[in-house]
Amino acid sequence: MKKLVLDLDETLVYSSMEPMGPDSVELSAAGSTFYTMLRPDAREFLEHVAKKFECTIWSTGMQAYLESVWNYLNIDGFTLWGRDYCKPIETSDGREPFEKPLRQITEDLSEIVLIDNTASMFAKCPLNGILVRTWRGDKNDTELSHLRYYLDWLQIQDSMQRDHQSWRLETLCLRTR
Ligand SMILES: [Mg+2]
Repeated sequence: MKKLVLDLDETLVYSSMEPMGPDSVELSAAGSTFYTMLRPDAREFLEHVAKKFECTIWSTGMQAYLESVWNYLNIDGFTLWGRDYCKPIETSDGREPFEKPLRQITEDLSEIVLIDNTASMFAKCPLNGILVRTWRGDKNDTELSHLRYYLDWLQIQDSMQRDHQSWRLETLCLRTR
């Protein structure tokens, strides 16, 4: 089974220490309360990909935070990897201190892909990364419903390693075929 790695924050959910209205839920981890909103179509998307891929949620957040969000989502079939699995990197601008080395999951990079809103997470294996738009609460966002079509197509290719930069355009072509 091919492997899918998904970032959590601003890819699947948005979390804040402040309440965000009726669309957010109040959760807690390690003694702190926080509020989380799901990206449009997130639940349907996750249930769909769980049937097709061996899935890992890989977050730069703490493991307790990730587990709290996942307990709320309550969807089976996902391995949960928090910050401890990320690798620190030296950055010139100091913005993103981590990367997600996919070889920790498999040596065969033809069978794995990472979906993340931060490109530096897959800087060392750019052909294995699908960059999604950062999500912070836009209710009209359609990224995950488009991405689902792209992954359906990608999953049946011999190798999932390719230039994914035009994935939205390619998805439009797939959907009108
Ligand atoms: Mg993120």
